[in-house]
Formats: sequence, C-alpha cells, structure tokens
Amino acid sequence: MAKNDNYFAGLDIGGTTVKSVLVDEAGELVGEMVEVRSHVKDGYEATFQQLDQALDQLTGAIGVSRSQVRGIGMDVPAPSSDGVIWAQANLAADWVGTNVRDLYSRRLGGVPVYMTNDGNAAALGEYAVRRKHIGALLLLAPGTGLGGGLVLPGGRAYEGANGLALEVGHISVPHREENGELPRCSCGLHGCLEAWVSLVALRRRVAVELSKPEHVNHPLNDGSSVEEKAFRLRDFAQQGDELAIRIFRQQGNIFGYGIADLVRVFDPGLVVIGGGLAESSFRDQYLEWVGEGFRERAWAVYRNSPVDPGKVTTEFEWATGGDSSAAIGVAFSAREMFG
Ligand SMILES: [Zn+2]
Repeated sequence: MAKNDNYFAGLDIGGTTVKSVLVDEAGELVGEMVEVRSHVKDGYEATFQQLDQALDQLTGAIGVSRSQVRGIGMDVPAPSSDGVIWAQANLAADWVGTNVRDLYSRRLGGVPVYMTNDGNAAALGEYAVRRKHIGALLLLAPGTGLGGGLVLPGGRAYEGANGLALEVGHISVPHREENGELPRCSCGLHGCLEAWVSLVALRRRVAVELSKPEHVNHPLNDGSSVEEKAFRLRDFAQQGDELAIRIFRQQGNIFGYGIADLVRVFDPGLVVIGGGLAESSFRDQYLEWVGEGFRERAWAVYRNSPVDPGKVTTEFEWATGGDSSAAIGVAFSAREMFG
C-alpha cells in the first residue's frame, strides 16, 4: 500500500459506541471497522478522545499516519444544523448549542469535518454500497424509533433548511388502537407512524393482544417483562405463531401505508428498509405485508410505469450495509466533499 495516499474517515457516534471506517482516495474501504466506546453521556470532550482513539486504530492498522486523513465524516444521534446539535437526545447537556463539528476540526489541526445525523448517515451508507445506483434513495429504519434519510441523485443527503428534514417517524397515519384512540408517540403527538412501527409500538401491541381472554394461554403470557415478550415475538413469528404473525402483519401494513405517502412526496424510486428486521428470517414475508399497505395507499403509477408496465417505479430493498453503514456513508461523503 502506498504510504503517501490520502484517506477519509467515517465516525458513526452512537449512544454507546463509535463505529469507524477508513476509505481511500479511490473510494475503497481499507482495513476493518474499528469500534470504541462513545462516552457521549460524559460530554463531547470525552467523546473527542474516543474519536482520536478510533482514528489512531484505523490508521495504525494499515500503517499510515494520522496526517494522511484529509477529511472526516461524522454522524450524531441527534438533530443538528451546520455543526450545532439542537436537542440533547441521549447525549450529555454540553453537546447542545455547541459547534462540535468545528471544535473537532480545530482539534485535528483544521482537517475538514462533515457532520450529519445518524439517519442521513445510514442512507448515505446504503447509497455508497450500491455503486451502480444513480437515482435517489429513501432509507427507513425501524428500531427504538423510526429513523430515515433521503439521498438525492448524485449522492448528497437532503437535510432540509435547518437539518430537520426526514423526520419520517412523525408523519401521521389514521390507524387507531382497538379502544378507538390514536396511539401516543414518543414525541408527544398522537397518531405518528413511529407509534406503530417502532420497538416501543411493538411492546404496546404485544401487551394489548396478550391481555385479551383468547390469548391467556399463549406461551408469551409467562410472567416475563413486556420488553422480553416483544424481543421474543420475532422468533414466534418465524415459527408461524398466529398471534405474532398478526401483530407483524398489522405493523407491516401500516408501515407500507405510511411509506406510500413518503413516496408520493419524494418519488425516490428506491426504498431501503433497515433496522433489525433486515436480518430476520421472515423478512420476505414482512416485505409482502409492507407491500399490502403500500398498494392500499399508493396510486398505481408509484408501482408500475403507465407507459411501460414492466417497469417498477418504486423498488423495495433490504438494507445491506450492516452496522457499519452509517460510518461508511459519512466516510464516502467526506471523500466526495474534501477529496
Ligand atoms: Zn411522533
């Protein structure tokens, strides 16, 4: 390996760990992903030390100097605008209102830093690994919440005027709980898409269903916590359990219904679904259920071209970047911007 090449690092700052990768000038990943603890709850200075450590490990592993890192991409688990974090989320209070992007750049002696949120970073990563893809890409990742990101043709994330775009979890859907109420979302509003497809939503649905007389003898009614029950529900669905399948089918249907509205706004051509379901063995079945909801709400032109019926106008794919996709996404963006 040439010792005078330039490299670009991607630093995905999560609630517990920093996942980091290095790409070279040609856009090839070099070395392995490095993971260190993030220490975000101890403040940004403590995290900067961890980022330094990640950079040392990344460059040390391939025998190049830190000075050969010509640009950094980083993503944070909070809304931010122009390098400044706007809300605390799971971070220490000192992150809010601080331009951590410029501070870290200064700490590195002026190496330029690009910063975005984790949803955009993951979308950029999915774009980067699809080397032949030239259109847009909408990523939706159900997890504790529902994250998302939109990459425009050419490979830039759409962040909005204030870095607040693509809060996909909080578009409204009309679906009501069995008591007739719109479910309350973690954001405080009612009827958000996230209140149906997040892990928190799954726990609510499991509790509602298991409290019914007809499910009193269901094996999940074993005294375990609702968190544990929701965690095990995927195994039950994979084994064909009727209740588990019904809960996931409803979730997939509502997810698809919400996706149809996003597709009507953005017409991305490609929708990538991430999150834990991407690794489950019933994911093909789940995607069918998403498709059912999508077809209920999306006009025919968002499914097939009216002039070339063989052409699918909205493709659905599972995320492929794995847990390094956000780090890969910001590393590639740094190379684009600073290379
Ligand atoms: Zn909400």
